[in-house]
Amino acid sequence: IMTHDLNDVITFWNQGAEFMYGWTNAEALGQETHRLLQTQFPQPLPEIKAQLQAQGYWEGELLHTRRDGLTITVNSRWVMQKDQLGKPIKVLEINTDITQQQAALRERKQAEADLQRQMIQKQLLWNITQSVRQSLDIQDILATAVREVHHTLGVDRASVYQFNPDWSGYFVVESVSPGWVKLVNNDMAKVCEDTHLQKTQGGRFQQHQNFVVNDIYRMGLHTCHIQLLEQFQAKAYAVTPIFAGDTLWGLLAIYHNAAPRDWESWEVSLLEQISSQLAIAIQQSQLYAKLQIELQERRQAETMTRESDRRWRLLFENTNLAVISIDTNGTIEAANPFFLKLTGYAENEVIGKNWFILFFLPRQIPEQIKLFQTHLKKTSYPSLQSKILTKTGEEKIINWNNTFLRNAQGEVMGVTGIGEDITERQAVEKLKDEFISIVSHELRTPLTSIRGSLGLLMAGVMDDDPVAMKRMIEIAAIDTERLVRLVNDILDLEKLEMGRISLIREWCDAADLVQRSVEVMASSAQAAGVTLEIVAPSVQIWVAPDRIIQTFTNLLSNAIKFSTAGGVVALRAEIIDEVILDTKNDQDYPSQVIPQRLLSSHILFSVQDQGRGIPEDKLETIFGRFQQVDASDSRDQGGTGLGLAICKSIVQQHSGQIWAESTWGEGSTFFFALPLP
Ligand code: ADP
Repeated sequence: IMTHDLNDVITFWNQGAEFMYGWTNAEALGQETHRLLQTQFPQPLPEIKAQLQAQGYWEGELLHTRRDGLTITVNSRWVMQKDQLGKPIKVLEINTDITQQQAALRERKQAEADLQRQMIQKQLLWNITQSVRQSLDIQDILATAVREVHHTLGVDRASVYQFNPDWSGYFVVESVSPGWVKLVNNDMAKVCEDTHLQKTQGGRFQQHQNFVVNDIYRMGLHTCHIQLLEQFQAKAYAVTPIFAGDTLWGLLAIYHNAAPRDWESWEVSLLEQISSQLAIAIQQSQLYAKLQIELQERRQAETMTRESDRRWRLLFENTNLAVISIDTNGTIEAANPFFLKLTGYAENEVIGKNWFILFFLPRQIPEQIKLFQTHLKKTSYPSLQSKILTKTGEEKIINWNNTFLRNAQGEVMGVTGIGEDITERQAVEKLKDEFISIVSHELRTPLTSIRGSLGLLMAGVMDDDPVAMKRMIEIAAIDTERLVRLVNDILDLEKLEMGRISLIREWCDAADLVQRSVEVMASSAQAAGVTLEIVAPSVQIWVAPDRIIQTFTNLLSNAIKFSTAGGVVALRAEIIDEVILDTKNDQDYPSQVIPQRLLSSHILFSVQDQGRGIPEDKLETIFGRFQQVDASDSRDQGGTGLGLAICKSIVQQHSGQIWAESTWGEGSTFFFALPLP
């Protein structure tokens, strides 16, 4: 607290003043106050005095210099003292040192500003980090980074420069305020070629150093460098290196163009932090690109494998060839559907089982294994033929084409065999051979007889005996007829079995067909003294009429042939709606020859005679070619042994079945059933 007169001369100076300013009471009294305290006013002194005069009071902040030279801020309150007449006499000044408070305030403001800046920086970094996380497109990330830096730091330009392998380089992205020249995709002719970075392979940046220029004219930069910066319109700039791993990838730069700029350290350090974020992004995207290529390659390889696998599968599943894979021990690893169908096994009955044990007779196994082992040692597995057993014990002859299965090292892991079932073909070949020998025999017999008869006639042996001669000619004629029949039957059968006779089906009345057949055979029945009986309902059937009549006449002619005079041959037809089972005992026949059970409604024809009958063991075989109960049958009865084979062929082509039942000595019944549409 002090007082001074109207001329500012100190008249009172208390202890507080002594303590605050360092001047003693003695030193202060009589001094001109503003000179002593080197007062700095917030407004001109006359103004303050005018206010004091008018209001008697003034308050404000002043700067005072203490005795020790330190300047302090004081809150100063002035009060005008007046005498009893109201005349001003002196000024009371109460000063409070608020230097500390002000410093604290300033600090707080600074702290707040710092906090805000930090938040902005954090936000900036966060934005960039997010873009690094969310995108693997480096162009995207770099663009985000320069945009954020540009706006946050209030610079005129932020850009990323990428080095080429030869340490030249180019601007990849930039964010630039309007009105300034563009550096990305800029084909401006450079005023001069600054090759410093190229020569030094990145120079200072290679050492992880930044380059901060507050004023391009005050850094002692090379003239060429300055010219280049002028072309970029930069007055100040700061650059930090971007490393991808250990390699200097490029630079992050900020430019101030309007005027020089004193870059603050936090700005540079922020730039550094962004550079390291970008480094991560670049590495990530490089990895990602590599991964993409690898993935692409793998996908391509996978597609190719899948495609070839698919093709192989398709073949494996659908081919009419048996495919089987076994390992070197003979364990079955794969078997295709055709093989399973052929052998009658289910897949799980085969996979993992031993090939030799499952498919060969016990006595053949050692030899087969030995052969297999020998073949395994060769450079390629030979193709071969083998007889394998089906589940039911049937033999199948397979022509195998074999290939080794090898692992990646080329070691033999097993064998895959692709096999063709030639059982049937072989059987057919055999049949054909037999057929030819039988046919030639059958042809030779009547021919020999004819040649004999003709020879005798030619020699004139019977010239004098016209009756014997006639008899001789008759024999030759009968044999010729038999030959013709034989040849016709053979041709018929051959055509039927080759499918060369196409059945021309039409709707026919079953009773009518039976009637017509009986008419054909009526005369021979009469000649043999055999009575024909008919029981046939009138029902429409879908058949080739000539062929069905041929079947009937064949069966009738047999029945008549093997009947004795006075016998009865009954021809019946009946509709069967319910399921009937074949009367034969299953166990007596190999499975493949048991006629299928009749499961749909059908028409059942039968021809019954009272002749000699057929022994049980011949009931099946007589349907084969040239098969007869007795070798003499053909000669005695004038048959060819092909009739029943023809019947069977015709019935089968109508999807029907044919069979015979007989009691030896009592007669036979031939049945054939045709499905009704
Ligand atoms: P074939 O021309 O010899 O009659 P088939 O094929 O018609 O030729 O008959 C074959 C054989 O079946 C006959 O030779 C005969 O041994 C026997 N057979 C056919 N039908 C009868 C029947 N109704 N009674 C007895 N045996 C028969």
